[in-house]
Amino acid sequence: MISFRSAVVCGLVHFCSLHAALAGSVSTQQIIKDLKATLSPGSEVVLTSDPAFAQDFTARFSGTHAPQFVVAAKPKLVTDVQKLIKYASRQKVPFLATGGGHGYTWSLGQLQNAIQLDLGNFQTIEVDAAGNTMKVGGAVRIGNVTQELHALGKEFPVGMCPSVGVSGLTLGGGVGPLGGFYGATSDNLISAEVVTGTGKILTASATENADLFYGIRGAGFNFGVVTSLNYRIHPATNQGRVTVVNAMFPANLSTSVWQATNKYVGHHPKELAILFAIRFNETLGGMSFVGSFIYFGPETQALEVIKPFLDLNPLYLEVINDASYSNFSSVALYGDVADIGPKKSIDFAPYTLNLYKVDVKNLVSSLNHMNATLTANLNLRPATLSWAQYSPEGYLKFPLESSAFAYRDVVVWFSYDGFTTDPAQIPALDKFGKDIRGLVQRGSGRRDLETYVHFSHGDEGPAAWYTKGKLPGLRKLKRTYDPESLFSWYNPISGY
Ligand SMILES: Cc1cc2nc3c(=O)[nH]c(=O)nc-3n(C[C@H](O)[C@H](O)[C@H](O)COP(=O)(O)OP(=O)(O)OC[C@H]3O[C@@H](n4cnc5c(N)ncnc54)[C@H](O)[C@@H]3O)c2cc1C
Repeated sequence: MISFRSAVVCGLVHFCSLHAALAGSVSTQQIIKDLKATLSPGSEVVLTSDPAFAQDFTARFSGTHAPQFVVAAKPKLVTDVQKLIKYASRQKVPFLATGGGHGYTWSLGQLQNAIQLDLGNFQTIEVDAAGNTMKVGGAVRIGNVTQELHALGKEFPVGMCPSVGVSGLTLGGGVGPLGGFYGATSDNLISAEVVTGTGKILTASATENADLFYGIRGAGFNFGVVTSLNYRIHPATNQGRVTVVNAMFPANLSTSVWQATNKYVGHHPKELAILFAIRFNETLGGMSFVGSFIYFGPETQALEVIKPFLDLNPLYLEVINDASYSNFSSVALYGDVADIGPKKSIDFAPYTLNLYKVDVKNLVSSLNHMNATLTANLNLRPATLSWAQYSPEGYLKFPLESSAFAYRDVVVWFSYDGFTTDPAQIPALDKFGKDIRGLVQRGSGRRDLETYVHFSHGDEGPAAWYTKGKLPGLRKLKRTYDPESLFSWYNPISGY
């Protein structure tokens, strides 16, 4: 399912044409020279054609509609980030901050001939166990944090993929299995250091630059570069021990499986996360549900809570009673997520939408359509539906107006992942994904398309990512903190 992105080797002639295409008047060689002279020792500046780029800089997770860089810079200090932003602004050269490199919206493909501002030197994790706080650098990944916190008997809510950047995750909200306890990752942010589009180094918190603090929690890629983040952390639930039950159901049980998921709507225990990867199974000759029930509590309780699913007699069942806060995502879904690493790159067409109810009839008919289409079309077989059903309890503890994070009452975070090892299949997977999104939306519980900014394709528009109600306030913030629109590549509030 996951493939390494094939390396593209540019010849000199091709590379020279990229120089000419740079947005500003300055040449690539001049940018390299200027940045080397400007940034402090310990910073790194390279051409992306240089072998050091692949070796030292953050790789991108998705190769489809990815941003395209000609220069990469790894600033050493916060003041270097500031200098780089000011330089790029002056020279009118586009740039993009890179944390974990896992952003995959196709809107990023608008960025061409740019500078990669790689935050790879911002890797510190400082935990104050007694005070229940943690400060992390702008490029720290989820997996680093969960290891460290687990060792100290602590936790905070993160997403499912260990190689996603913590700051990137937070800037869009951050949804995951512990959200039922603590809300979005961004709800646990106490303060952040931000170098804004105006080149200022600011602290954003409830008491300092509170408007910016509002904006960076949900729409954070629109205003500046976040160099460090300070979070509230929590004593580990069940001493950090987690039960993971993996199970597989054939598509002929789809009505029963979705009826079972529906039983949790309005009664979802905060300890439980329900995940499904719904995909074509060659052995079964049709669609199947690969499920994971992640329970932050002991096995006996977990099995009781998920009884509606166990009663369906899954084809396969695996009960892991010794998983932990630091590895639950690696063992979930029979180890599928563990296979996704920071140095791998894939091609895929993503689509998503928020579901506010489980419309069993509509879901079954959408799946039947997918089953028939994939049975007839081998090229579409890698397409996967991803179902993440978390308790809304933690999200609803925080008022909607407390931050830019737009969606707190979502029942299911639904996605279509058109993964492929062959980029030539992307157009077909893309078209099919859009069809599936349209079909599933009929039963979403909302008239308009509403999509979580981080899972979005890029075609939905700012109202779908941030809501109509939040846009005027966010645009006002944009005028204050990034009036030149330097930060407008990742599902921007201005649209594109
Ligand atoms: C396999 C996989 C699983 C995922 N699972 C989940 C999940 O369970 N829950 C969830 O909520 N999300 C999930 N995501 C989505 C993920 O949160 C986003 O893709 C996020 O943007 C990744 O952040 P990053 O730093 O890794 O990516 P990057 O591509 O480095 O950054 C994404 C965007 O944020 C900006 N950015 C990143 N860091 C900074 C910074 N320090 N300062 C300013 N801007 C910054 C970048 O400029 C870019 O615009 C998943 C993504 C993948 C690929």
